[in-house]
Amino acid sequence: MNNQIMLVTQIQFKIDTQENSGIQHDEIQWLLGTYRMGRHILGREFPVAQQSEQFVVFTLIPAEDAFDTATLNKYIQERLQKLSSVGLSQPIYDILGKDPSESSACVCKESPALILFTTYLTLQSPLKCAACFSPIPLYRIPRFPSEDFHDIISWQSDYQSCDSLQMNCSTGERFAIRQLSSYDSSLSQRGLKICNVIEELTGRAVYYYLYRGTGKSHKLELNRKCPHCEGEWLSKEPWHKVFDFRCDKCGLLSNIAWSFKP
Ligand SMILES: [Zn+2]
Ligand SMILES: [Zn+2]
Repeated sequence: MNNQIMLVTQIQFKIDTQENSGIQHDEIQWLLGTYRMGRHILGREFPVAQQSEQFVVFTLIPAEDAFDTATLNKYIQERLQKLSSVGLSQPIYDILGKDPSESSACVCKESPALILFTTYLTLQSPLKCAACFSPIPLYRIPRFPSEDFHDIISWQSDYQSCDSLQMNCSTGERFAIRQLSSYDSSLSQRGLKICNVIEELTGRAVYYYLYRGTGKSHKLELNRKCPHCEGEWLSKEPWHKVFDFRCDKCGLLSNIAWSFKP
């Protein structure tokens, strides 16, 4: 798997028989919805151009193998089968080029552990390889019992909403910071549950990150303990330049308050 990076991709659906174009468009949207929930395409907006003999959709995909048949869940396969019944061809994929704004996907043969981590800025998978800290396309991990990634997608969306409130330093700032930083918050508990499911499916440790924006002093920051087991968790060197704290027992990560970082 070489040259993995977010790719701008065009998907064509040829109109084999002229039928109600509204129904054809709806069928394409249903398919795109299932692709999105399986994380084969990223983001939420998928411009569709209707032309005389085809529909053309523009999407971002996490890596070149995004449409490999083996990675497609049963909902996607069902939707693909319905295309012909509304007079559309099977999708034709055309990778147009890299999206230079995002980093490459993980190419490690095997990731020793994983990290659930996202920010308000990124469209990429929130599952990072603990070796290279690059994103791992979700369709490459064993399938969830639900077949799609609804739980991860909604957690990521809520995390990014809180991160935006935190960045904007105004409406809802305190609420958002608590959700991002506290072990007991609803957001963290949902994230930790996702980590547990991925651990069970992959047999690998999955770490969860607790944000830390401000603190009282640098010294007190260094003395912070793991918020779950209250054990020591300060690392000699920050892991991936971000995580000063790491508790292997609880699978938790955090940082020295950003306000005290050099
Ligand atoms: Zn990796
Ligand atoms: Zn701990």
